[in-house]
Amino acid sequence: MSTKHDTYGLQFNVSQLLKEPTGATRHYEINIQPFGQLDEDVAVVAPLTGEIKFLRTGSEILVQGILQTIVEKNCGRCLEDFNAPVVFDLEEQFFPTIDVNTGVGVEAPDDADEANRIDAQHTLDLSEVVRQGLLLEIDSVLYCKPNCKGICLQCGQNLNLAQCDCVDDVIDARWASLLQKLETEDKP
Ligand SMILES: [Zn+2]
Ligand SMILES: [Zn+2]
Repeated sequence: MSTKHDTYGLQFNVSQLLKEPTGATRHYEINIQPFGQLDEDVAVVAPLTGEIKFLRTGSEILVQGILQTIVEKNCGRCLEDFNAPVVFDLEEQFFPTIDVNTGVGVEAPDDADEANRIDAQHTLDLSEVVRQGLLLEIDSVLYCKPNCKGICLQCGQNLNLAQCDCVDDVIDARWASLLQKLETEDKP
């Protein structure tokens, strides 16, 4: 029985914190089970752990913390799935929708993301910012290992596992230009 919103178990009721003065804090230890796909290419395959702190600032809540897990994604060279550790710093400002004392609606700043709104029930939901944070952090990890040998473009053999019998100099001319292009793109 999970709704769209508590997919990751990262919802916190902040109505009490919002009633407290600026400077009030809450600390949470995070240890939640692997929650699967972050998008169609990346999945979380280990518990998400870490510590976060909520700080009441003005009418907002500043969330800071460090979270870590392991994700699975697909290697851009050998096309095998691989696991990669991810650690990321979370620092996000959250804005109320309703003033907890008066019940009056509150405007968020124009540049505030919808994911950074505390809802009308005073629930602060970290799911989307955590999802985006993990994806951003893993975005630059493209290959299963820096020296991944990729696959043979003729027979499809994963060259990390075994050499194939294809001989380099008989590579079809059509592949040669593609190979050259790939080589160039691989250079940082
Ligand atoms: Zn690879
Ligand atoms: Zn081959």
